[in-house]
Amino acid sequence: MAAGIELAVLRLDLLDPLISGNKWFKLSHHLRAAEANGADGVISLGGAHSNHLHALAAAGKRFNFQTVGLLRGHSQQTPTVRDLQAFGMQLHWLGYAGYRERYLPDFWLPWLARYPGFYPIPEGGGGLPGALGCMTLVSQVREQLSVLGWADYDAWWLAAGTGTTLAGLLLGEAAAHPVYAALAVPLDHGVERHVQAIVQASNMPVGRYQLHAASRGGFAKVDAELLSFMQAAEAASGVPLEPLYTAKALMALRRHVEAGYFARGSRLVFVHTGGLQGRAAALLQHMQA
Ligand SMILES: *Cc1c(COP(=O)(O)O)cnc(C)c1O
Repeated sequence: MAAGIELAVLRLDLLDPLISGNKWFKLSHHLRAAEANGADGVISLGGAHSNHLHALAAAGKRFNFQTVGLLRGHSQQTPTVRDLQAFGMQLHWLGYAGYRERYLPDFWLPWLARYPGFYPIPEGGGGLPGALGCMTLVSQVREQLSVLGWADYDAWWLAAGTGTTLAGLLLGEAAAHPVYAALAVPLDHGVERHVQAIVQASNMPVGRYQLHAASRGGFAKVDAELLSFMQAAEAASGVPLEPLYTAKALMALRRHVEAGYFARGSRLVFVHTGGLQGRAAALLQHMQA
């Protein structure tokens, strides 16, 4: 690259054909807690294209535990919803007003009455357990540095939705390297607050992080410039991206590199957070918009 930056991609999209991306790491501690509690199943929330519910339903099928998904909005068929059903997840559509109640203290009561012994996992697999599951990404990258011929790296760059994965990297780094996140949601969506809450709950030392606006008009908003960047990046690298998180994050990174944000010779680790299961639907929605 003309800017003299080296970039390594941590391919979480390649981990598993079904239980892919950062969602598997975010789920791991939640699922361990469910098992330790002797739960009869797991219940969680998400939208009709949710990578989180997709990973959870696939894990339930693979490891043989029951899953219930509470969905935002009204009943619709999407490729994700079809997969959820095929994986055996029990679905309930909450509407939009009903879904907004998910943070109320009594939200889970009727669902746990209906599914006694089920373990609730917050939206997106967030919170401290979600972040603890992502800490391991740091050691995984450090173990692979010699493959790259790198003695060290300078910073992380990744897409953020809730900021849980970012928080996990912060905890795993213990202030050794800074973490930069490109926001797939608008700046005022409470990501900063969520990261701070996780860090405080963890009681662990953390270093520097920074949130960069990258949503390009809002979550799941897709525009022609983004798509042409994504196609060019895919063609040049051979790495498949999706428009909602990874392409937006990489595009924001390129803008920062071009603006001289990183010193010449910097070595960056870009986390490919997965999400490819929703790729076709995201592109189709754009074409219909
Ligand atoms: C969920 C998701 C993210 C955001 O992860 P957070 O931990 O919520 O910040 C990023 N990329 C992809 C592909 C995702 O599915």
